[in-house]
Amino acid sequence: MTSSLSTTPAAALDQAEIAALRERFPILAREMNGHPLVYLDSGATSQRPTEVLDAERHFATHANAAVHRGAHLLAAEATESFEDARATVAAFIGADERELVWTSGATAALNIIAGAIGNASAGLGGAAAERFGLGPGDEIVVTELEHHANLIPWQQLAARTGATLRHLPVDENGVLSLDAATAVIGDRARILAFAHVSNVTGAIAPVTELVALAQRVGALTVLDACQSVPHLPVDVTELGVDFLVFSGHKMLGPNGIGALWGRRALLDALPPFLTGGSMITIVTLDGAEFLPAPQRFEAGTQPVSQAIALASAVRFLQDVGMDRIHATEAAYGRRLAAGLAAVPGIRLIGPQPGSPRAGLASFDVAGVHAHDVGQFFDDRGIAVRVGHHCAQPLHRRLGLTASTRASSYLYTLESEIEAFLDAAALVGPFFGVGR
Ligand code: PMP
Repeated sequence: MTSSLSTTPAAALDQAEIAALRERFPILAREMNGHPLVYLDSGATSQRPTEVLDAERHFATHANAAVHRGAHLLAAEATESFEDARATVAAFIGADERELVWTSGATAALNIIAGAIGNASAGLGGAAAERFGLGPGDEIVVTELEHHANLIPWQQLAARTGATLRHLPVDENGVLSLDAATAVIGDRARILAFAHVSNVTGAIAPVTELVALAQRVGALTVLDACQSVPHLPVDVTELGVDFLVFSGHKMLGPNGIGALWGRRALLDALPPFLTGGSMITIVTLDGAEFLPAPQRFEAGTQPVSQAIALASAVRFLQDVGMDRIHATEAAYGRRLAAGLAAVPGIRLIGPQPGSPRAGLASFDVAGVHAHDVGQFFDDRGIAVRVGHHCAQPLHRRLGLTASTRASSYLYTLESEIEAFLDAAALVGPFFGVGR
């Protein structure tokens, strides 16, 4: 298994605890189309508690200054808060703060890794970076279920370097097979990039096994942890990957902040991708020398208030307990899968009932376009995501162009899951299909 999950199963949050937590999320009290909002779109973006909103506002109101630059007290205070936030977020994933690079989100983080490896392949970075160089004959391996953010940067890197992009196939439900992975990850593999939790299927990847397959051939591993860091305990040391990325807005934090974690020796040996101010030691008209990580990857003015608010989100999650959040959502995932699979005309995507999954589920209603399905739910105040969820190749493999996804979080009530399932049973009859 994956995982950093503790061996003693944690207790799920009880409904009264969740009801109390919800008080801290003012948006959840809204009504939509005459119904109480049932927000089942946290996989796309999560809601923010007052603590997080206040943290960002407090910084902007009382403590704003440029970090790492000013010679004045306000700047020194801002720098200290910014670096404290880094330490908080790094500790959350079991990392050293010198290994945590701020980015604008997971997409930026993945582009930075791929771009830096591309620069190394072009000869930038000197002898230290030679180990990253890719060329014809080398292979970059991804999975067929990746979010476009963890696919296109690798396509671009392959195109830049002449390396070959290969993929680990999924089965007819969209689930990875380890046997197939073993066959694909061969001696030429130099990078293996994959999602910890699929944003479409909710499947939790067998990280330990995949990392072992990559390490056997000396390939670097890149984990897209966008859908895991917000929802389950993640510890980079236990996972054994080389790089890991996530986004703040999916974990109660603001937009515009995310992180790239990498092993320090790797980050310090990689050439930068974005260049400019704040990441250098010496600059001449002809060249520049760069700071070690994390600053070498943090060119330009950083999203300081967002980083501070993300640290506040992390403290909120820690107070609730990641193991309890995971236990709660795993139960929701089981209920969603069982409930959807029981509806005539609905095809559940991903792990079938009885197999573990995260607290989300995607499905297709035979004969009804996902956008109509989404509208049906919206009319009842239920917010779900429809479309290809930035995973077109996966949908193509499943024979679909789009699907509908319900995704939970720590503020989701069991009654909301049931309201969603009750409505799901009515979609087919409403559109006159599936009878
Ligand atoms: N990977 C996965 C699995 C995701 O769910 C998402 C967001 N939908 C991303 C990458 C991209 O994240 P962002 O848009 O925050 O950069």
